[in-house]
Amino acid sequence: MITIGEAQNIVLDRIFPLTTEQVHLLQGVGRVVAEDQIAPWDVPPADNSAMDGYAFAFADWDGGPLRVAGFLPAGACETRPVGPGEAVKIMTGAPLPPRCDTVVPIEEAEAAGGVVRFTGTVHQGSHVRPRGEDLCRGGIAVAAGSLLRPQEIGILSATGKTTVKVFRRPQVAILSTGDELLEPGSPLSPGRIINSNSYSLAAQVIEAEGVPLMLGIAPDDPEATREKISAGLHADLLVTTGGVSVGDRDFVKESILALGGTILFCKVAMKPGKPVVFAMVGGKPVIALPGNPVAAMVAFEQFVRPALLKMMGRSRLFRPTVRATLEEEVANRGERPHLVRSLVTLKDGRYLATTTGNQSSARLSSLTRGNGLILLAPGVRLSAGTEVEVQLLDREFEAGGCRP
Ligand code: AMP
Ligand code: MG
Repeated sequence: MITIGEAQNIVLDRIFPLTTEQVHLLQGVGRVVAEDQIAPWDVPPADNSAMDGYAFAFADWDGGPLRVAGFLPAGACETRPVGPGEAVKIMTGAPLPPRCDTVVPIEEAEAAGGVVRFTGTVHQGSHVRPRGEDLCRGGIAVAAGSLLRPQEIGILSATGKTTVKVFRRPQVAILSTGDELLEPGSPLSPGRIINSNSYSLAAQVIEAEGVPLMLGIAPDDPEATREKISAGLHADLLVTTGGVSVGDRDFVKESILALGGTILFCKVAMKPGKPVVFAMVGGKPVIALPGNPVAAMVAFEQFVRPALLKMMGRSRLFRPTVRATLEEEVANRGERPHLVRSLVTLKDGRYLATTTGNQSSARLSSLTRGNGLILLAPGVRLSAGTEVEVQLLDREFEAGGCRP
């Protein structure tokens, strides 16, 4: 059996960034820029006032009162120079007239009868934002490979851009398997349960910025499973759930092989989530996850999410891990690393971790009550107060989960 890290490498070796597309700036939020974005002009385009105040030429000033020769609101532009013995009243953002290099804020000035005098010490060049202070013409506003956050969107719009070239979002086909499954909204009947995995996995795809394609449910039948898997190969990646163990009615692996696929691994040393299959079928990656709801989501986090991020050109593919102090004893009596569902909190600058209770891989509330996974090596028992490594699953981890 291979390790989680080895399995991740096998997957990521076969995943590549998708093609690019030109999108409206606001559709670029959360996506990765495919090429350097060059500033076509200086930002700001002219020296301008950082305050509401009075602008004048410091070199021409004798330290005495100045005649107020004009008024420059933001949006105005004065091309005549301000003469010796003169100042202009200027508002924040207005370009400085020629020769002017210094602004004194209104709060440090006394104006009366068309004349202004300054009450404090005046420094040459003060309260002026020089042309190109933010970006120089021809410089890189946002480098290729950057993630577009609101601040990158802002700087791109300041350079006049309305669209941006980004990596495409992957389309991820999601297929659940199992005769026992009913779609949400159907009345329950004996022996049946709701197909919740399609929804939790689709939500994980959305959270990773991918686009889920719901293929529904394949019954436990080789031919039907094959057909549904074929349909999923139109997407950029196919994720299936269930039907990958050694049960009499587990048809996913044989369907992949029947379609000419190559299975690259089919078991990973982890708990939950051991039966995970990674295959290439007709040039498309297929990740077959276990059926147990928690195992499916935890295995998605380890293998599918990094693959989706790589397809979108992201450079950081993995969730952050932190060192946290255990609030209770934890033990792993098994032979596989255990990803223990836990709630991480931050107290006095230290991360604390507590488990979310019963760790059954069928119990989704072990995930809803938490926000992280303690990485627990096989055969260890750790007492409260020990430091452990925890993978943080939430973007805003403090907000995630409720206290058990
Ligand atoms: P399997 O791997 O197909 O044997 O499924 C393992 C367990 O997960 C069984 O109890 C299934 O009923 C359950 N399961 C499988 N698929 C789903 C699903 N889509 N939604 C909820 N539970 C599922
Ligand atoms: Mg099944």
